[in-house]
Amino acid sequence: MTRVLLATRNSGKVAELQRILAPYGMSLEGASYEPGPETGASFADNALAKAREGVAETGLPSVADDSGLTVDALNGMPGILSARWAGRHGDDLANLQLVLGQLSDVPDSRRGAAFVCAAAYALPDGRSEVVLGELRGRLIREPRGSNGFGYDPIFVPLGYDVTSAELSPEEKDAISHRGQAFRALAPLLAAALPA
Ligand code: IMP
Repeated sequence: MTRVLLATRNSGKVAELQRILAPYGMSLEGASYEPGPETGASFADNALAKAREGVAETGLPSVADDSGLTVDALNGMPGILSARWAGRHGDDLANLQLVLGQLSDVPDSRRGAAFVCAAAYALPDGRSEVVLGELRGRLIREPRGSNGFGYDPIFVPLGYDVTSAELSPEEKDAISHRGQAFRALAPLLAAALPA
């Protein structure tokens, strides 16, 4: 197994992405340093910056992601500000309530949205790559379901009639923006790693 750093301190994310990367002979470990602030202008910028920081901190091949919700009626916002939309980083309930309030007069026909994830790798020799995954859907008016996190209780994926908070973790992994991005990144990283 090749050791690969996942540039996050979130152990849930390490476990989720380990399931995707293990078949490629990679063993993921979480970060033990404190990651710097996200200051990029796009999901891709932030994911690449985090992966490069991982290499600088550990010397290991590193992967990282950045994700969020883009709402059509809000011109793509909250976007890269998804985690701190209501002002305080990681206040999922306040973030979700703020988006619901902002959309209160938006009719059902214009409530389209997408979860987007940029997944990046960076290698000690300076090479890097970033790919995007997207899950389209629509936003409902009242939260439903208790799985997942963030905006999941108000997001109904395209082709479903339940929210992503009503899907099991395995069902969500199979269609999610993060699952899509890392399934696309994994073979690229596997091919780039020294044999
Ligand atoms: P980060 O990529 O961990 O920085 O996540 C950014 C933010 O986007 C999270 O705090 C959530 O608010 C939102 N987000 C990203 N992915 C999801 C998801 O799968 N479900 C619900 N919210 C998400």
